[in-house]
Amino acid sequence: MTKVSSLTTNLIHRPDEPIQDFVPFDLAQRLDAAVWVFDIDNSRIARANAAACRLWRASSEEDLKGRDLSRDMSSTVAKRLLQYQADFTAGNTTFTELWTLYPSGEPESVMVVYSGYRLEDGRMAMMCEALGQAEDQPDNLRSAEALLHTDVMITLFSRDGPPLYMNPAARNAFKTPVVDFARLFVEPTDCDELLDQMERLGEYRLVSRMNTARGQRWFDVSAKKCSDAVTGQPAILMTAIDVSELKEARDTARHLADRDQLTNLHNRTFLQNHLSTLYRVRPDTPCALIFFDVDRFKLINDRYGHEAGDTVLKQIALRTRATLRAHDMIARLGGDEFVVLIEDVHDRASLEAQISRLRLAISRPILHNKTRIDARISVGVASFFPRKGDQSDVLREADIALYASKQSGRDKVTYFTPEMGVAAKARDRLEIELRHAVENEEFVLYYQPRLDIETGKIIGAEGLARWMHPERGVLLPDSFIPICEETGLIEELGRLVLEVGCRQAIDWARQGRDLSVSLNVSPRQFSDPGFINTLTLLATDPDFPTGKIELEVTETVLIGDHDLIAGRLRAITAMGYRLAIDDFGTGYSNLSYISRFPLTCLKIDRSFISQLPESGPIVQLILTLGQQLGATVVSEGVETAEQLAWLSDHNCDEAQGYYITAPLPVPEFEAFTDRLLVF
Ligand code: C2E
Ligand code: CA
Ligand code: CA
Repeated sequence: MTKVSSLTTNLIHRPDEPIQDFVPFDLAQRLDAAVWVFDIDNSRIARANAAACRLWRASSEEDLKGRDLSRDMSSTVAKRLLQYQADFTAGNTTFTELWTLYPSGEPESVMVVYSGYRLEDGRMAMMCEALGQAEDQPDNLRSAEALLHTDVMITLFSRDGPPLYMNPAARNAFKTPVVDFARLFVEPTDCDELLDQMERLGEYRLVSRMNTARGQRWFDVSAKKCSDAVTGQPAILMTAIDVSELKEARDTARHLADRDQLTNLHNRTFLQNHLSTLYRVRPDTPCALIFFDVDRFKLINDRYGHEAGDTVLKQIALRTRATLRAHDMIARLGGDEFVVLIEDVHDRASLEAQISRLRLAISRPILHNKTRIDARISVGVASFFPRKGDQSDVLREADIALYASKQSGRDKVTYFTPEMGVAAKARDRLEIELRHAVENEEFVLYYQPRLDIETGKIIGAEGLARWMHPERGVLLPDSFIPICEETGLIEELGRLVLEVGCRQAIDWARQGRDLSVSLNVSPRQFSDPGFINTLTLLATDPDFPTGKIELEVTETVLIGDHDLIAGRLRAITAMGYRLAIDDFGTGYSNLSYISRFPLTCLKIDRSFISQLPESGPIVQLILTLGQQLGATVVSEGVETAEQLAWLSDHNCDEAQGYYITAPLPVPEFEAFTDRLLVF
């Protein structure tokens, strides 16, 4: 066996000396040292003197020349030989290496000097001269072997010039010839830092961009002060690991962590970090935080689809950016919420002008697939000096101001004032109270009768939530439903209302009262996945009063993916519930698809009833529509005998309102229906 492996120990590179041309081998025959020429291209020995034949355990030069050395050669050795060939071609290079030969299966370590040797046909081969058998310890051999095979680039530099030694990985990576340490670095400052710190600490490490055979790449580089083992001169041991892929991945990860994917704006995390830097570094800069969101953004999504919603958000991002100075910051906090941070705000007028520009830019129509979408924003502004308070306060103040804009009818700008902070605190307190109230079931239903206009009988009731507040008494829905909607508490409250309403209907049926119960379902509750579960659970109760429970939904619930909504509504009616549209006429119903929903009842909004007889044509229209759909029509908010008479004359099915009675607690409601024989 003639396996070969090798260890580089020294490298001498003299680019200025001419490359050796073909010289006859004859002289070598007279030497005691083993000398042979290795034909790298063919992995064969081209010439060998007698000593070499002895070393290789060959009977003759012909025998040795006949051996195919490639068969037992590892791929790393083969690759390295090609590298040597290139090195020889590039300049007059000599290596001294410890080679382990396996001439007869047993390892034989020999120190060999290599140099380029041109064959007669002009190809570059390798002249090998054995200096003698090495008597290294096995561990030395192994560590030297490891040095050769590692991917870590290891180079020993003289203090002021070229490398004294480069392992194969280093020679592969860096463009040879390497002139000196400094020239490996793209940024001279990195090299300076590395050397300065090494000088101070003995060893130093940093990540730096370096010039390599594959262009500029990132390396984790360490430099260590040492001395050359051969000459004793001061030297630098440099190790370098290519971390380009890793660094790219980390940079991308950081970019992703700081940015919002959809708009590529900064995100909440970045904004918060940026603000905390501002608090630290520029405490006396007058700043303003402009917090805005898109009015009725859900409606845009529902009406035009989520892609359109995304287009709107992306357009808003672009347009906002265009109104800002380069160093102003804009972040998307999530959903349709954006924040602009303006530094150096010295007067209110320029801030107002900035906000006007912003609103104007966003109010221009947004095109999505030829559909024109109009977006408006509500804005909340908080001005601040970073030295005062902490950063979460500012965001919160701007948010409170934004909330005020929404409350006062949207498409508005509100500047935060301390009074608003007080109101917001009250709201927070209310929210906490509400959570308790939902847990403690402090809610009851009052019932407002529904009158069959033709027969004059009470045929059902609408259940209306009341909060029995331990201190403040009976509270009306206006004071808690909107907050429940905002906070999501509506889902639990809604479940409670459904349970109580169902129980009441069962109870009345047991008492022999033929009454149906209508219950309000908020849009948020309707889109909650748990809603259908609750309905299913109630409907599978053996006592469930099939056909007696009506759910009142508003028109907003019907906007969006019609097939999906129709499917949902059909599932609900299939369980035995009836469906009413509440406040009909005030929403955005598209009359052309209303017929596709399984509706059993339309409740005319009281704003039309209160304007009778002027609003007569509209009411008449709804009555006709109800007839066409086969749905009952209920008029809400009937307050006078005249209104009831008008409705009776126009064949409206049912009436509900203070003229009959205001909503009543259960005992009063029962007493009312008992007393009332015919209205
Ligand atoms: P709504 O569904 O339109 O309920 C009718 C409201 O009109 C009730 O107010 C009722 O007291 C009032 N009303 C009845 N007759 C007259 C009248 O002749 N004139 C006037 N001016 N008003 C009349 P309430 O009980 O304060 O409820 C307000 C709203 O709160 C309800 O409007 C409904 O949208 C919501 N709500 C009430 N209970 C619930 C509930 O359990 N769940 C949900 N999601 N919403 C509820
Ligand atoms: Ca209602
Ligand atoms: Ca209503």
